[in-house]
Amino acid sequence: MHHIHIVGGGLAGSEAAWQLAEAGYQVRLSEMRGSGERTPAHQTDGLAELVCSNSFRSDDADSNAVGLLHQEMRALGSLIMREADRHRVPAGSALAVDREGYSAGVTAALADHPNVTLVRERVDALPDGPAILATGPLTAASLASAIGEATGAEALAFFDALAPIVHHESIDMDVAWKASRWDKGEADYINCPMTRDQYLAFHAGLVEGEKTPFKEWEKDTPYFEGCMPIEVMAERGVDTLRYGPMKPVGLDDPRTGRWPYAVVQLRQDNAQGTLWNIVGFQTKLKHAEQVRLFRTIPGLEKAEFARLGGLHRNTFIRSPELLDPMLRLKSRPHLRFAGQITGCEGYIESAAIGLLAGRFAAAELRGETLAPPPVETALGALLGHITGGAEAATYQPMNVNFGLFPPVEGRKKADRKRAYTDRGRAALADWLNPPRPAPSADIS
Ligand code: FAD
Repeated sequence: MHHIHIVGGGLAGSEAAWQLAEAGYQVRLSEMRGSGERTPAHQTDGLAELVCSNSFRSDDADSNAVGLLHQEMRALGSLIMREADRHRVPAGSALAVDREGYSAGVTAALADHPNVTLVRERVDALPDGPAILATGPLTAASLASAIGEATGAEALAFFDALAPIVHHESIDMDVAWKASRWDKGEADYINCPMTRDQYLAFHAGLVEGEKTPFKEWEKDTPYFEGCMPIEVMAERGVDTLRYGPMKPVGLDDPRTGRWPYAVVQLRQDNAQGTLWNIVGFQTKLKHAEQVRLFRTIPGLEKAEFARLGGLHRNTFIRSPELLDPMLRLKSRPHLRFAGQITGCEGYIESAAIGLLAGRFAAAELRGETLAPPPVETALGALLGHITGGAEAATYQPMNVNFGLFPPVEGRKKADRKRAYTDRGRAALADWLNPPRPAPSADIS
């Protein structure tokens, strides 16, 4: 007998199982590795395996959003953070781990927990009772098709096509301007103008730039016309982009009163307007190459990127439209989703969403409702992005970053990061220990 079924013993499923087991609930944790099955990326049968780098990125909780996320997860008794800290290896201000020791620690903590039944099995159908689906970016095909049937085929992606995302405050609006083509409707786009020489140099940079190769098991990545890498389009001809995503027609540059030779357009990416994606710029260019080349775009010379472009095999659902603020599938609220399948990106973000799913489910089993963490916290900002802040139609995976937080106003740039993290710590403290109303004064 179990209270809840967790499918997937990766970063998210392991953390969710721990939170529920520690809260006193019986958990059935199903992991297909160890039953003769394996994803193309995993190498071991260990829980919460790190499939690539051994780093959880910055551990600086004062000036980095992911560092703040680490700190918040530690405060909430995270198993992933506990084992990462125990198996830490030197990596400057980053949190890197001995991957085998760390995964063995997570596996032992769950396998030995009296409230966890770890079952090595592949799950092919959606559970009928309370469950958390945490099967990750490489969810087994049978379960993925069951999820597709429940969510609608349109709402389940098998590849991400990531265009770079820029922090709004880093765009030079003396060069770029806001307008829609032919001035129709609102001025929804930020437009960066290019001369002929700038365009030709940019085109050459795309064609010649170093690309990240596909992994062997990603080789059948389909190039949908709508999400073709920009360099593949550039290879089709020197003018292909000028007739595609860099089309200048109907865009009068206010500085010249004329259409530029080519235009790079950015579209708002989150409700707060702090993040803007470069339209049509999904790419396999190496990250350093992207930063160098995209900073040659007029108006983006000082661009700070919240995310760089990419194209990977990745199963994820259109969470902003499908999930409620407590990670429940709106159409079947006994099912929660957690981890990268919700459209977050990264080891620690996946574990963080697992932590929240576990806590929300534990509260529900107690007959209570746990309010989502405030959006000023890293957990709340990430959750808010997944369950509502992002545009559903163009939803693509994202790491935690300050662009997901409500903006901090009126600070010098140098002080802003600290202002975000100080505000986040205060908000987490209030969430964990809500201030009690002052006792009413005795007026008798
Ligand atoms: P996972 O950790 O993948 O866990 C899902 C688990 O579910 C797996 O153990 C899988 O075996 C199991 N499973 C799947 N289907 C079923 C089923 N039907 N029944 C039972 N079990 C099932 N992030 C980083 O921060 N740094 C990196 O360097 C990095 N590199 C990556 C490299 C690759 C190739 C990929 C694909 C992703 C990478 N990521 C990286 C992104 C991501 O954060 C990780 O994939 C992370 O492991 C996601 O956590 P998760 O818990 O959502 O999924």
